[in-house]
Amino acid sequence: MKHLKVLLINPFIYDFAAYNFWSKPLGLLYIGSILRKNGVHISLIDCLETDEKKKTEDGRGHYLKGKVNKPEALKMIHKPMRRYGISEEELKKRIIRDEKPHLVLITSLMTYWYLGTVHVVNVIREVYPKTKIIVGGIYPSLCQEHARSSLNGVDLIVERNGLQKLYTYIEEEFSYPMWFKPGAYDLDDLPYPAFDLYEKIDFAPLLTSVGCIFKCTYCATSYLCPKIKKRNTENVINEVLYWISLGVKRFVLYDDCFLHDKEEHAVLILKRLKNLKESMEIFNPNALNAAFIDSKIAELLFASGFREVRIGLESTNPKFQKETGGKIDNSSFKNAVKFLKSAGFSQKNIHVYLLAGLPFQRWEEVKEAIDYVVDMGCTPHLAEYAPCPHTEMFEKYKKFSRFPLEEEPLFQNNSLFPFAWSGFSEEDLQFLKSYLKEKIQ
Ligand code: SF4
Repeated sequence: MKHLKVLLINPFIYDFAAYNFWSKPLGLLYIGSILRKNGVHISLIDCLETDEKKKTEDGRGHYLKGKVNKPEALKMIHKPMRRYGISEEELKKRIIRDEKPHLVLITSLMTYWYLGTVHVVNVIREVYPKTKIIVGGIYPSLCQEHARSSLNGVDLIVERNGLQKLYTYIEEEFSYPMWFKPGAYDLDDLPYPAFDLYEKIDFAPLLTSVGCIFKCTYCATSYLCPKIKKRNTENVINEVLYWISLGVKRFVLYDDCFLHDKEEHAVLILKRLKNLKESMEIFNPNALNAAFIDSKIAELLFASGFREVRIGLESTNPKFQKETGGKIDNSSFKNAVKFLKSAGFSQKNIHVYLLAGLPFQRWEEVKEAIDYVVDMGCTPHLAEYAPCPHTEMFEKYKKFSRFPLEEEPLFQNNSLFPFAWSGFSEEDLQFLKSYLKEKIQ
C-alpha cells in the first residue's frame, strides 16, 4: 500500500466522576508521531473534550458529559454514571469528516473505563464495518483476558511492550514497510508526540524518563514498565524549546520517578529550564518523591517554573510506609517540606496525596495523616485507592473486596470504594472529605 491513513482515537470515559487533571493520551500521540515519520497520514479524535466554560486558568477542567445507562453489573450502585467527552453523534460526525481511514488505533486507559473503549469500537464498526481496529493501552495490559473478550471484534489488541507487534501487524496487513521502528525504551529516538493534531495546545505533557526504581505494592508501574530509562537531558530541553516556539507556556511532567539519579538528570534539566529566557509554568500531577527533595532540588524546582509541587506521601504510618515499598518516611517528608518552603513554595502550593480506602485501613489513620500534613503547612488530598491488577496488594487482598474485582474491571473503580469495611465505611469516607475541606479552609 502506498498511502496509509490511520485515525487515532482517545475514547470516552464511563464513570461516576471524572475531571481533566492535565490529561492527554501521550502514548497514542507518540505512536502517531512514529507512524507519521514512516510516511503514514495520521489524524486524531480526542473524545475527552473539556468544557471550555469550566476550564481553570491553569488548563484543568470538567469534561463535557452525557447520560448513560448503567451496565447490569453496576445496577445496584445508587449514583448516576456518565459518559465523559463529546456525544456519540459528534464522534460519528468527526469520523466521517475526514477521508475513510485504513486503520483506527484506540487507546484505553483505566481498567474500569473500558466501556468507553468498547463504545468507540462499536461506533467505528457501525460507520466503517471493514476498517481495521487496534486497541492498546493500560486496560488490555492489566486485564488481558477480560480485554480479549470485551474487545473480541477488534483486529489486534496490543498489550504492554507490544510495539513490535503493532509494527508487524501494520507491515503485514497493509503491505506497508516501516523503516522507523523504535522500541518502547528508545526514548531519545522518538519524534515529539503529535500534539499538533490538536487545534490548540493548552499544555504540553513532558516525559523525561520512564519506569520507577520503587515497587510500591499498590502501583502497577513496575509491571507496565519494568525498566528505567531516562532521556538525554539536551533532548528534553530541545523539546521544551520546540513547544515554546509554538506558543506553549505550560508543561506537565508525566514522569513517575523524575528525581531518581537527580544529579545526572533532574538537576541538569532544571538548571537549563531555570536559565531559559521564556517564562513557563510546570505542574507535576504524578507526584514527586519527597525523599529526593533536598535544598538544591527545591530551589531549582521553584526557579525553573514549578507552580506547585505534588508529593505522594500516601500514609504517615511507618509500618505501612515500610511494608508497601519504602519510598518515603515521615522524616524525609518533613525535610522536603522544610526545603520547599525555604525555596518559596507556600502551603497552597505543596500538595500531598494520602491514600484512603486501602484494604483494612482504619479511617482514623487517614484523619491523623490529614492533621499531620496540615500541621506541616501543606495541602492534603485524598487519593481514593483503586485496586490495580498485577500489583502485590491486589493479589493479596482481592478476596476481601466487597466486589469480584478480578471478574469485572468495573469494580476496580475507586468511586465504588471496593474495600469499605466496618473500620472504614462509606460514611467515614464522606466524613473525611468534609473534615479535610474544613481543615484546609
Ligand atoms: S514511587 Fe510512585 S510510581 Fe514508583 S512504584 Fe511507587 S507509587 Fe508507583
